Amino acid sequence: MTGFEPSKRKGQRACVLGLGRSGLAAARLLLRRGFSVFGSDTRPAAEVKASARLPAGLVWEGSGHGDRVLKCGFVVKSPGIARSAPIIARIEAAGIPIFSEVETALAFSRAKKLVAITGTNGKTTTASLTAAVFSKGFPGGGKTHLAGNVGIPASEVAVRTGPKDALVLEASSYQLEDSRRFRPDAAAILNITADHIEHHGAMAGYIEAKARIFREQGPDHWCVFNAFDPLTMKLSRRCPSRRLFFGPKALGVHAWMEGGRIRARLPGEAEASFPPPAIPGEHNLHNAMAAVLLALCQGVKPAAARAGLASFKGVEHRLEECGTAGGIRCVNDSKATNVDSTMVALKSMPESGRVMLILGGLHKGSPYTPLRSLIPGRVKCILTIGSAAAKVEEDLAGTVHIFPCKELAVAADTAFKVGAPGDILLLSPAAASFDQFKDFEDRGRQFKELMRQRQEKRLRRTPPTTARLPRGGRLATRGRLATRGK
Ligand code: ADP
Repeated sequence: MTGFEPSKRKGQRACVLGLGRSGLAAARLLLRRGFSVFGSDTRPAAEVKASARLPAGLVWEGSGHGDRVLKCGFVVKSPGIARSAPIIARIEAAGIPIFSEVETALAFSRAKKLVAITGTNGKTTTASLTAAVFSKGFPGGGKTHLAGNVGIPASEVAVRTGPKDALVLEASSYQLEDSRRFRPDAAAILNITADHIEHHGAMAGYIEAKARIFREQGPDHWCVFNAFDPLTMKLSRRCPSRRLFFGPKALGVHAWMEGGRIRARLPGEAEASFPPPAIPGEHNLHNAMAAVLLALCQGVKPAAARAGLASFKGVEHRLEECGTAGGIRCVNDSKATNVDSTMVALKSMPESGRVMLILGGLHKGSPYTPLRSLIPGRVKCILTIGSAAAKVEEDLAGTVHIFPCKELAVAADTAFKVGAPGDILLLSPAAASFDQFKDFEDRGRQFKELMRQRQEKRLRRTPPTTARLPRGGRLATRGRLATRGK
């Protein structure tokens, strides 16, 4: 089956299914390129209207998908719409081709190189790291663009690319599953664990969606795999392009850790070493190794890659340090919306038994019991929030003291009541956010705001002993406000 080719679709009416952020970006792009566009969404019309600015010229419907969808020449599907949605079967039965938002966007890209990253966890961090590395020395001197969940949908970014540029794309399985001609120059699969199964129906479907990242690649392309992860390794056997692996050195991989540094060697090239970026946790070493391999196989020189890694300061809501209050270090890991993510967060915490862990939110279906093994020695107490609280309490009963708090603000208050200087307050909820927050960003921002208020309150109570800023820039206070944790 062929992919989306704008010239073949001239004069046809496009239907954009789903008017969320990426759907609207696709609609805007197609309108600008001269297509007439019909948008359709299941949310009530008023909600769609209130959620974003609808582009001029867009004809649309809310509250469900009507027959007008079936009068279009082709359909662009937003990543959030499940393949199993009844409208998809109706569109297919009518013989109307469906393209993903990403594939549609890429048809308008002029970038010299496309780099795509997928995996259950680590996509945003690795895509951001890869973009940081490419921006320090992508051969050809063009710009590096970053698209995906990170902020900007591919439909907004792809049209801005020039012929010397690199486009780094975070590709979720939702985006990949409808892409037929997705063909990155370099790709990476970071890991595969059970997540989003409710969307893909079964693990097999989820893995197939991930495989689409390399399925159309040729022998001149590259794909990076995680040799620590058995499912990813199994999938790598089906890859038609040049395979690169990061993992334990003993497996003869192309990137590994040695003496605290990343070491990498592409086939036929000299070995190079790289100081890891300043972001915590072993998982981030995996992300950094993937970024290094993606860069090296696209001709980025080791020195530029080192500069890129050094410039990287992490991504908001991923183990983000948000200061200390009363000697308690606050870490915002709101992006940990599944148990696996919370496990990696705990593994990156010191084994001093000082973590006060906020868990809960909207339950995703997997048990919380895998966390049990990481609690002894690391976690001091658990504070539960959201509709998953009862399940968390049941699954983790008998480990450490659990404070049922219901709300994030109550959890924060409780932590500051029971905590002591040297403790770490970690929001890494292992659950989705939609029961109490707009999204995980909203949850993370509210957490940071609570921490900021807490810091301010302490400062007001204990005014600074030193009014002047000393050399070196840090304000000495008895209120203990610091910009970074210890
Ligand atoms: P994604 O975009 O795939 O959701 P992020 O980079 O936003 O991934 O990270 C989300 C969470 O996943 C992080 O908070 C961290 O806990 C976890 N994580 C990040 N990288 C990895 C990795 N390589 N392996 C396992 N977990 C990871």
